[in-house]
Amino acid sequence: MNDVWTPVPPADTPKWRARANEFASRRLEGRVRCPLCSESELRIAFSLDGPRAPRESGGLTFIGSGRYWEWCDGRHHYAYYPDSEVPHWAAAVCVRQASGTRDPSEVVRLLGER
Ligand SMILES: [Zn+2]
Repeated sequence: MNDVWTPVPPADTPKWRARANEFASRRLEGRVRCPLCSESELRIAFSLDGPRAPRESGGLTFIGSGRYWEWCDGRHHYAYYPDSEVPHWAAAVCVRQASGTRDPSEVVRLLGER
């Protein structure tokens, strides 16, 4: 597989979001196929940039501010969200990403090093 990361095209964003939201709602339990290539599963990781005391909102607990990435390993599709709250369930896939890279190559590496 190549190492070129491709952002989800705007025309494909609705179907990507629908699957990615389904994936997130399972809180890392279960698998969801990439809606673009159907070859591999969606992955998610967060960078917890501003950790703070847990806060409840809308039935979820948030542990700070940060960014997150969604991607598929097969064809390297990705989506990047630079301004987000980090939910408690995501603690297992939190890294500290210093560079601010939009594509997930660095977070994939950081996750692999843990
Ligand atoms: Zn894909």
